[in-house]
Amino acid sequence: MSNTALVYSKRYMMHDAGKSHPESPGRLTETVRYLQGTGLMDRLRVVEPKTASIDDLARVHSIEHIERIRDCSETGGCRINADTYISEHTFETALLAAGGVLTAGDLVVNKSFDNAFAMVRPPGHHARYDKAAGFCYFNNVAIAVRFLQHKYNLERIMIFDWDTHAADGTMSIFWNDPSVLNISIHQDPNTLYPGTGFMEQVGEGEGEGYTVNIPVAAGSQDQDYRYIIENFVKPLARSYKPQVIIISAGMDSHKKDLISQIALTEKGYSEMTRAFMELADGLCDGRIFLELEGGYNLKALGKSSFEILKSLLGEPGGYVIDGALVPHNKELVDALREKFSSYHNL
Ligand SMILES: [Zn+2]
Repeated sequence: MSNTALVYSKRYMMHDAGKSHPESPGRLTETVRYLQGTGLMDRLRVVEPKTASIDDLARVHSIEHIERIRDCSETGGCRINADTYISEHTFETALLAAGGVLTAGDLVVNKSFDNAFAMVRPPGHHARYDKAAGFCYFNNVAIAVRFLQHKYNLERIMIFDWDTHAADGTMSIFWNDPSVLNISIHQDPNTLYPGTGFMEQVGEGEGEGYTVNIPVAAGSQDQDYRYIIENFVKPLARSYKPQVIIISAGMDSHKKDLISQIALTEKGYSEMTRAFMELADGLCDGRIFLELEGGYNLKALGKSSFEILKSLLGEPGGYVIDGALVPHNKELVDALREKFSSYHNL
């Protein structure tokens, strides 16, 4: 049985972008209600997140961007673009979201816990150096990466983002940076927001080959993700030898979440968690943590979070994931292996 931290706070409900907005406080209240109903909450430790400092944010974002979000919150709120709003408590909640991911990372890297899941909102992976976008204000995972590098001098951190949307914000932040192997698997951006995250986008300068985009076909299922992880992501990770593995877990790639056409199930998230835990055991003394990104079908988010936490706890389970692959994804793996073998030992 693992010692697992669930980093979570009721204060994550303070940010509210409006009644009809999919990124709602109910995402977390319903998930926690579901987890409580299963009895799982008694087998892990709930940890209150720290609040990220301005210095923590400023390792990733411009001061102008930070002040813009703060000032807008302090004056009662405003709209940033069509789908991203700031309310009175957005700034405070966003600092707590970044702080939650940073707390999870700290607890895992210093070995206070075997692993952790930072169940935070608002999400972060579309936020860039100078820009909020796609329900995201500050890039929580990037802020945690810079914090861990600063505190522990880590040289190689791996991010795997399974949210259905490409992690364009995270990609832009680490574009030139080989200290982060930044992998995003997502629905083909020709057919989904944010319209970027193509295989050809591999980073630049010293970072060339350390940005990895895996654009899968609409209709992809658990077996497609398993195939891609086994045949491409695992060899890539073994070549890079990360010191910690971070999963940007967006459960909007669930088949019941109609924001995209990716069709994963809670079994798939369970199996992916187990696969990355095994990888972390072999590469980085088991150091792994997850942080929540998207996920807008409340039932699917609750069930998926339950399966992920069961895996983190090391409880018996595991599923046989089988079925025919979407043909495109087999070609995709061949193309990825060929492309990245010039940067890594695949
Ligand atoms: Zn998403």
